[in-house]
This record gives sequence, C-alpha cells and structure tokens, in this order.
Amino acid sequence: MTDFIIIGGGIAGISAAARLSHLGRVTLLEREGALGYHASGRSAALFEETYGKPSVVALNRASKSYHMTENGGVLSPRGIMLVGSPATAEVFDHDLKTMEMDPVTMAEALRLFPILDPAVVDRAAWHSEAWDIDTDRLIQNFAREVRGNGGQVVTGAEVTGITRTALGWQVLTTLDAYDAPILVNAAGAWVDVVAGMAGIKPLGFTPLRRSMARIPAPGGRDVSAWPMVFGAGEDWYAKPDAGALIVSPAEEDPAEPHDAWADDMVLAEGLARYEAHVTEPVTRLLSSWAGLRTFSPDRQLVLGPDPANPAFVWCAGQGGYGFQTSPAASQLLADIVAGRASDLDAETVAATNPGRFR
Ligand SMILES: Cc1cc2nc3c(=O)[nH]c(=O)nc-3n(C[C@H](O)[C@H](O)[C@H](O)COP(=O)(O)OP(=O)(O)OC[C@H]3O[C@@H](n4cnc5c(N)ncnc54)[C@H](O)[C@@H]3O)c2cc1C
Repeated sequence: MTDFIIIGGGIAGISAAARLSHLGRVTLLEREGALGYHASGRSAALFEETYGKPSVVALNRASKSYHMTENGGVLSPRGIMLVGSPATAEVFDHDLKTMEMDPVTMAEALRLFPILDPAVVDRAAWHSEAWDIDTDRLIQNFAREVRGNGGQVVTGAEVTGITRTALGWQVLTTLDAYDAPILVNAAGAWVDVVAGMAGIKPLGFTPLRRSMARIPAPGGRDVSAWPMVFGAGEDWYAKPDAGALIVSPAEEDPAEPHDAWADDMVLAEGLARYEAHVTEPVTRLLSSWAGLRTFSPDRQLVLGPDPANPAFVWCAGQGGYGFQTSPAASQLLADIVAGRASDLDAETVAATNPGRFR
C-alpha cells in the first residue's frame, strides 16, 4: 500500500512524485524501461521566463531560483535572439514585445550568430535571460528525492486498468497491481486515456507534434557560445547542442498519443526556412526526432483534483514548458494536495485549476 500512485515517468510525474514524497509514500509507474523516454527525452531544454501564457510565465518565474540553485543548479547561460526581415516585420515587432527583447544592430547580431545572411535578415533582437536546462540532471535529482523519501519508481509497468475501491484506487499494470487513496495522472500525451480508464471525463487535451533535426556545426565552427535563434513568429529555431546544432520547424501538428517520430516533409520545410536566413547550407542530418507537446484547451497547465472525484489529481498540459515550469508546478500540486496555501498568486492558481473546464 502506498499513499500516492503517480502514472507517468516524464518530468511532470517525477517532479510531482518528488514533492509528494514529503507528504507520504509514493509509487511512480512508468510504462517504458526508463524515465523521460517520451516528450521529456526530446525537448530543446531551454528555460525562458517570458514564454507562454501569463499563468505559464508565473510558473516559469516561480521556478527560476530552484533551477538556479537547488542541488547545485541545472542552468547554464544561453541567451536567445530573434531575427526578421521586411516580410516578417509585424510578427517580429509582436515577438519583440511579448518576449521582452532588446533590438540589436546587425553587426551585433552577426557577432552573436555569424552565419546570419544580411541579404535576408535586416533586424534582430537579443535577450540574455535564457538558459540551457540540464534536463537529465533535473529528472535524476527529482528521482533521488523520491527514493530518498522512501518512494519507489517502477519502470516497465504499463497501466492497463484502474478501478475505484473503498480505499481509493487499484491500478493494474503489466507488472503488478497497486493500491492507493490518491491517483496522480501525469501521463503526458496519454492523460485523457488514463482519465478514461479511471472513469473520469477527459478534459480534451491535444498532443501537438514538434520535430527536430540535429545537424553538424555549420562550417565546422565552434557553436558552443551561440544563442538560441528564433525566426519571427517562431516558424523555426536553432540551438547549439553538444557541438552540433538542433533545428526545429517548430510545427504544432495535432496527433494521437504515440511514440512520435519526425515528419520528413515538415522537417525539410522547416530546414528550408532556417536555411533561408543563414549563409551555410544544411548538407546532412546527424539525427532527427519528434516529441508531443500536449496542451489543454486553453494552453495552460492543469494541476489539482478533478471536481467530480478529488482522489483523481491532474498533473497535465505541460505543453512546451514542462521542464521550465516543473519546480513551481510540482510545488503547487503538492500544496493543493496538502491543503496548504500556495506562494503563487491566486490568479495563477485559478488558471491551472481543473475545475475551469467542468
Ligand atoms: C521538440 C520539443 C521541444 C521542447 N522544448 C522545451 C523547452 O525548451 N523547455 C521546456 O520546458 N519544455 C520543452 N518542451 C516540452 C517538454 O518536453 C514537455 O512539456 C514535457 O516533457 C512533458 O512532460 P510529461 O511528463 O508531461 O510527458 P512525458 O515526458 O511524455 O511523460 C509521460 C509519461 O507517461 C507515460 N505513460 C503514459 N501512459 C502510461 C500508462 N498507461 N502506463 C504507464 N505510463 C504511461 C509515458 O510512457 C511517458 O513516459 C519541448 C517539447 C518538445 C517535443
């Protein structure tokens, strides 16, 4: 018997499990053989405070000091740059404002990202307040916290059935059956499937595929200090990654929950958009992949008990912000479960309440 069962071993589930492990015994159930196999193993690993709707931004901001300091910190400086052309002037101005960026001269832009093509790009903006997240370390830090508090992380355990019992829930997996009074649904793209298994009305989440290509460092350059670079309107981005560049078409194509892979045509079109802004052609791919960014209908996180059954707790809708929001989102979830007041403002707490969809 355990106090909390958490379904899902991505960043959402493991961070929730870590926080809840201070309140009781937790058991985390993950279908795959390791933590972070799905969306959490496929991200761009960026921390950027201004990215997302106001409640997401509030969670980002509230997560910053944890990311900076806890367990020695998981952030390292990156910075982001936005680039545009006369054709994208309007979107560029919009992004400049929402992302709180500062315009820079083309000379400065070229110093920061030397492969920009000045024949196409005539405007750029810069923002130093963006960091790489060591996502593996973050996941392992939370996992250590779970185990340190006597909790267990069970991998290779696919949840195949959930039944209501007098005590709470019985969860059937491919390995064993588990009982607990409280069930936390952190199943990423599968959250509505898990809700359905438990007889809870789904909330209407949409997994959106996003593809990624890894290409060799352009012209063999040292890219380690380059910023992350966005096309205006976020229709492509590029980011240094262990000596290479990752480039994403930044698509949002709706998909059923599945083990996602990159769409060749979407990837080619995205790489062409990136190539149109730089002087170095893409000659080959080192690898490619895709992940599902799962959004609630209003693109804000969903954290807390279902109004129809408070023993069923949602930890869902992390969208494109699951890593950066995880410290504050998991803390809020634990505060709600413990009946404690949250340090977050009331608007943010209300904006993430599952009750808003009922
Ligand atoms: C290309 C891309 C770029 C991104 N960039 C960033 C970024 O820069 N910064 C950022 O913060 N976020 C980013 N994200 C978003 C971030 O990756 C996600 O928000 C986060 O990983 C979601 O975590 P999760 O735990 O909800 O989902 P997942 O990592 O998918 O975990 C859910 C888990 O539930 C398990 N599961 C499902 N059903 C069952 C079942 N029946 N039984 C047992 N287990 C089950 C799955 O196997 C899975 O491991 C990006 C995402 C993508 C795809």
